[in-house]
This record gives sequence, C-alpha cells and structure tokens, in this order.
Amino acid sequence: MLQPTAARTFTLLLYFLLVLAGTSAAQVPAPEAFFGFKMGADGKLADWAAITKYFETVAAASPRVEMVDVGPTTEGRRIIGAIISSADNIRNLPTLQIDNRLLADPRKLANDREVRAIMTGAKAVVAIGCSIHASEIGATQSANDLLYELATADDERTVQMLDRLVVILIPSLNPDGHVLVTDWHGKMQGTPFDGGQMPWSYHKYVGHDINRDAFMLNMTENRSLARFFSREWHPQVFLAMHQMGTNGPRFFVPPNYDPIDPNQDPLIWREAALLGSAMALELESQGKSGVVSNAMYDYYWPGYEDSAPLGRNTVCLLTEAASARLANPIEVAAKDLRGATRGLPQYAPQINFPNPWPGGTWRLGDIVDYNLAAMRGLLRAVSRYQEELLLNFHAMGRRAIERGTNEGPYAFAIPPDQHDPAAANKLVNLLVDGGVEVQQVSEPFKIGDTVYPVGTAFVMMAQPFRAYAKSLLEVQKYPARKLSGSATPERPYDVAGWTLPYQMGVRVDRLEKAFEVPLISRIDRVTPTPAWPLGYPRPDYYLVDARGTAGALAANRLLGAGLRVEWTSGSVSQDGFTYQPGALIVRPVAEARTHVERLAREMGLRVFGARGRVPASTSLARARVGLYRPWNDAIDEGWTRWLFEQYEVPFKTLRDAEVRAGSLRSSFDVIVLPGIAAQRLVDGNRKGALPDEYVGGLGEAGVAALKAFVEAGGTLVCIDGSAQLAIDALGLPVKNAVAGLPAEQFFCPGSIVRLDIDPSQPIGFGMLPQNAAFFSFSSAYDVTPGPDVRVVARYGAKDILMSGWLEGEQAIAGRAAVVEARAGLGRVVLIGFRAQHRGQSMATFRLLFNAILTASTESQR
Ligand SMILES: [Zn+2]
Repeated sequence: MLQPTAARTFTLLLYFLLVLAGTSAAQVPAPEAFFGFKMGADGKLADWAAITKYFETVAAASPRVEMVDVGPTTEGRRIIGAIISSADNIRNLPTLQIDNRLLADPRKLANDREVRAIMTGAKAVVAIGCSIHASEIGATQSANDLLYELATADDERTVQMLDRLVVILIPSLNPDGHVLVTDWHGKMQGTPFDGGQMPWSYHKYVGHDINRDAFMLNMTENRSLARFFSREWHPQVFLAMHQMGTNGPRFFVPPNYDPIDPNQDPLIWREAALLGSAMALELESQGKSGVVSNAMYDYYWPGYEDSAPLGRNTVCLLTEAASARLANPIEVAAKDLRGATRGLPQYAPQINFPNPWPGGTWRLGDIVDYNLAAMRGLLRAVSRYQEELLLNFHAMGRRAIERGTNEGPYAFAIPPDQHDPAAANKLVNLLVDGGVEVQQVSEPFKIGDTVYPVGTAFVMMAQPFRAYAKSLLEVQKYPARKLSGSATPERPYDVAGWTLPYQMGVRVDRLEKAFEVPLISRIDRVTPTPAWPLGYPRPDYYLVDARGTAGALAANRLLGAGLRVEWTSGSVSQDGFTYQPGALIVRPVAEARTHVERLAREMGLRVFGARGRVPASTSLARARVGLYRPWNDAIDEGWTRWLFEQYEVPFKTLRDAEVRAGSLRSSFDVIVLPGIAAQRLVDGNRKGALPDEYVGGLGEAGVAALKAFVEAGGTLVCIDGSAQLAIDALGLPVKNAVAGLPAEQFFCPGSIVRLDIDPSQPIGFGMLPQNAAFFSFSSAYDVTPGPDVRVVARYGAKDILMSGWLEGEQAIAGRAAVVEARAGLGRVVLIGFRAQHRGQSMATFRLLFNAILTASTESQR
C-alpha cells in the first residue's frame, strides 16, 4: 500500500497530467481527486501542506475564491483563509470590506439614510474557524469539502447565497497543532497507539489553552486572529468548530447554556439561537440524530476564540462534534451513552435533544458529514436573514454607544503612575489589539477629587465594543448556580472571574459619573516611557528600582550580562525617592553603564548612580533551573516555559528519565514543578496508552531523587497541585486545609481572591502587599510554626472574594498561600495557587521569579 505522502504525490502528479492533457486549468479539483481520498475516510487525514496547497489551487482556479493571510503562528507558519463569494463580490472585495467597517462603527455613518445606502450593497460576513484544538480534527477536513462545494456548485440556492455573503473559511486556527497531530498520526499508524493521545500538547506552549487566550493575546495565533477580526474583516457571524467526548450527544449547536455575560447585547443571544437552530434544522432534515443545544457550554467567560468577539458585536457560534479515535472509527454501545451535567440530565429525548443517537459505529466521516450539514445550515440562514443580521450588527454598535453615553460606568481610567508600568502598558495594548478604543488626554484632567496626569489612558464606554472592554476591566459577580435538585455548585465551563486590573496588579479607576470629555487622542500602542539614569556621573554603584514584572526581567537581564547584581534587603532612600526592598544594585559601574542605561531607556526603570557605602543587600546569581515537563499535554508547564522565555529565565527541560536517574543537585539549583496534581506527576501515563518510552511518570525513584535534591541544598518550587508531592515526600509541616472538602462546603472554580504578601521577605520583593491570587480549586495551607518554615503570603482574612465565585470563604480565610520551608540543606517554595495563570496574573508572576532568584543566594555552591 502506498504511504499517505506517496499517495498524495501520485495524485498531484495525476492531476497535473490531466491539466497538461488539456483539461481546463480553471477546473477546480474535488478534494477526493486532489488528496487521493474522500475527506473523512477511515484512517486518512489531509495534512497542513496539502490543505494549504488545495486552498491555493482552488483559489487559483475559481473566481469565487481569494486567499487571505490571517497572520503568523507561534512556530512561524501562516494561518490561511479563503474568502468565498460570488465572482462579482470577489472583484468588489475592497468596497465590501469598507462597507463592513462602516457598519461596525455606527459613528462612521451620519444617519439612517447613509445606513440604508450602505445596506443596498453590503454583504453579510461569516467567518468559519476550524479545529483550534488540533486533535479535534474533523473540521479541518470538512473545510476542504465546503470550499469545493462553494467554489463549484451552480444550483440557484448556492449562487444566490454567494451573492449575499462573504464567507471567510479558515481551515485551521492552529496550523502548528495540526502539523503536530498529523505527524504523530503518521508515525503511529498501524501501531496499537494509532489515534491515541500524544506525549505532548497540540501547540508549542499552551495546548488546549490556545482557546483560552483570546483577550490576553499572549500567543501569536491569538494576536493574528484578533488583528484580523478587529482590523481587517469584522464578521457579523463567527463559527468555531470543535469536537467533544465520545459517549454523549453527537453534535452540539447553539444556543449555549447559562450563564451568559450580561454585558452583551441581547440581540447576540437571539441571533445565536436563530442560527444555531438553523444548523440543527439542517442536520435533522438530513436525518442526523443526536444533536443537542442549550446544554453544556456557557458563554460567561470572554477568553475563547468564539466568545471574545461577542463583545465586538459578532454573533459567535460553537459546534462540538462527538470525537472518533482521531481518524479511526469507534464503537459506542447504547448502554454507554450518557447525558451531561448541564442541560441534559439523562441521555433521553427532551426539547433540546429530541432525537438521541442510538449508538453504534462513529467515524471521522460522520464528523465531516455533520460539520458540513451544520455549515450549510448556517450559511443558508445567514443568507436568508442577511438584512436583519447586518442591521442588527449596526444597531448593536449604536446601542453600545448609547449605553456608554447614558449609564455608568462612563469610562475606565488607567493612570500612568503604576506599581508595575509594564503591566499597565500590557493592559492598554491588549485592549487596543482587541479592537477597543483607548484615548489619552493631552493635559492633566480632573474628575472629582482625582487629577489624572498626562499619559492617563481612558477607555470611554461610549464605543461600539463597550461590552468587550467592560467585561475585561470590571469585577465579575458570577451568578452562582446549583446542579438541579441538589446543593452542589454547578461548575462553570471555564472560570468565574478574570478581572484584568486585579490579575495584572494595575490601578484602573471605574468612573461612574458622567464627565465632560476633554481633548483626547486615540492610542495605537503604548511603550515604556524612557527614563534617564540619574545621580552622580562617577558613581560607586547603580541603584535600580525593580518593582513589578520589569524588575524581575531587569534582574535576569543583568545577570545574563554577567554583571555583579545584588538586591537590597530593605528600603533605600536616594535623591528623594524611596527604593523598595529588592531594588537592584549593579557593579562594577564601568561595565554596568550601558546595561543600566538600556534598562532605563527601554523599560523605563528608574536608575540612580549612587556614591558611598552600598546599602544592606544580598548577592544574586544565575540559578541553574530545571523545569519539569511530563510526557503529556501539560498546559501549566507550557505556560511556565513560555513565561520563563519571556522574562529571560534560563532553564533546562527536565524529563522523567533524568529526574529518576537522580544526582540532580550537581546540575540544578532550582527545579520547578508546574501546577499538575501530585498523583498525576508520580503516575504519568499508564502502560499501553503510549509507547513505552513515554509511560510512567516520576515514579518512586523520581520522588526520591527530588527529595535528595532538596536535602542536598536545592530549591524545589511547586505550583498549586504539585505542592502535595513535596509536602508528602519531605514531610513538610504544612497541610492543605481545603483538600477533600466537599463542594457544598468550599468551592472556588477559578476566581480572584485577596492575597496579602509580606513584601519584606525576598520572595515577596517587588510585589504589591495587597494583592490578588487566581484561585482555581487551589490550596490553602495550615502551617505548623517552627524555625524551618515561613509564610510569605496569606489569603485575606475577610472579604476574600475579589471577582468571580467563592463558596465557603472561611475555609481559606487568613490561611497560608505561599510557604517557604527548609528541608536538609535546601528548601521548598510552595505557591498554593496559579501565580502564572495563563500568562494573565502579572501581579503574582514575581513569586515564581523571586523563588528562583533567592535560590542562588540561598544555596552554597
Ligand atoms: Zn475544542
């Protein structure tokens, strides 16, 4: 049998031969002819190179199709899209794009007459994004079929539809992941692991969380998509196609489940319900059973690729097809079929699930067929309701402006004088990149008793994307929900609180009273305000203000340059400015000058050339860091690795075999265990799940090696769930007080809670003492006092919930959140919550950096 690549090459060859033989070059090849198999055929997957080539080939041959570059991926590939419409519309695309932008912002059209004028030519823009979770691979395959169908069908309905629509078909929102998945599939074909899990995630860093980054925009893919959808094309409708588990409904369509984000315009939900029902109707008409709606997935959280655009008045739709075993069929017995905790208590007919699938064989081909039916149903409905969708799109922008004009909050203000200016800049930039208008005043400006200096960023609520900005900046009060008929809290599909000012440690004022808008100008991007070194021309040492995340980056950068770096043990006053504990001292001055100048210029850090005796301080050194990475899709490891790269923390990836081999102290000063449950770290993959080299985790040998590492003077840093491993292995005088508490007593499904940090302890350096922790089923410690254990941070004593949802706050009130415990010659730093949560919680990043920086001063090497 031919290998897949060989088969493809052969097909391509055949195709070109046919072209040469006189077949019209303009003929669009069917996917089966091009790829050499039918989309969805058992065991067959179209890979990224072939999909890209197919899209280009169809675009070259069809006047209905034009390629568009959505932007780069993390690994430097391109996210591609096909714009599909009638040939006339394709010729007229620049005008249609302008119409689309005018409708997105009602301020650009003076009156109803201008709206009507635009409406005569405007087309509804529908974007379809496939398989952001790359192993949910059916949609990438279906995209080829849809492209062919829309490029070639000549029936009246399709022709009419293409006249009314601009379809943007993105065959993969995560091409890097698609390559990882198809490469692994190719390697494992014909083995017992064919179609099984991969020993890594389907993204270089964040795996599943690639679809949890749509407002924070840490990943290249998410920045590309945000730019495309807020600056290039502004779809009225965006469909994201996913897959779910194997033994429930076959297909999910909107409307989603409760709760909803109350900031969104209600029209959004009505249109989602309309279009979701149109998909369900098409599926049902084709006899496709097992379609569920109004269940499982809520739209409270704005960080999905398919929920962030809601706040920009794009109707977002999610579909989830039941998975097969990647490209291989599965058998699902009727007795194994299950409902869902949310919206489908039993696997039985009910109004949102009228036709249960009876069980049987389920294959990739079924997923492709269901996807195609859903996409057809959607496009037909958008075509039928084109006028309403366009008018409502415009109306939602207008209503957002009206609300922002007539009710509070009227604005959010971000003053320039911040504890962590880098975090404040990141906040402004992510809003701008998400399409939000941010303005600056050119003169100091007084509101009430507060004077906002030049450089204050204002996010006025009278703007079309009010809902998007408001959701990110305000406090969430999650509408607590209980599972039906019980006292058990119902878990949100994602998290309950995300308030960015809290997570990022940025002061943002909510302005509840209307005020006269001063002279303002729109910001496109903020960069640090350059500072210039102060002090004596020939100083004895340089003193650097090292608060916030930039302070940690500065320390890492100076150490990387081979300079002698210390940090002050207490506050230091120089030149009328008080440097907080952890300010950096850099010597020798001759070598340091260019480096500290760069810190001042590029990062805006205050640098002072000081004379005289150096204040009390401790030397820092570059620690040799090992970051443990298991053989699975460990998302928290990926975020930690990404964070280390961003902040120039040098590290080496540590795998099971190296840990188990022991003698870790000779190679490492610090080992970091990401937030993964201790038992999972120890057990790893079970035998038979993956090839033997990926089976088993740290095991007993690994745990013993980590214990020996600490006892020999190493620092073990544990984030969230991994802490239990160190507590047990080293017999630390620490107990997680919330472990095993039933949900009725304590429940915190991803919320922001009050955190009091002791800023006089080195692990607390550079952070706000009144801080915020991202807590998601995390830990709160009881600590037996003793000489070998110190509490660095505690959860607040009262009013603990800052944003989100927390039941039973007494369970964590005043309890230890960050603990430093000595063991043998070394120590363990336990961070009880996600200090680096999805790259969002900038206010607590430094706990991790400081745990590493203090290691070099602690260890005797
Ligand atoms: Zn998914």
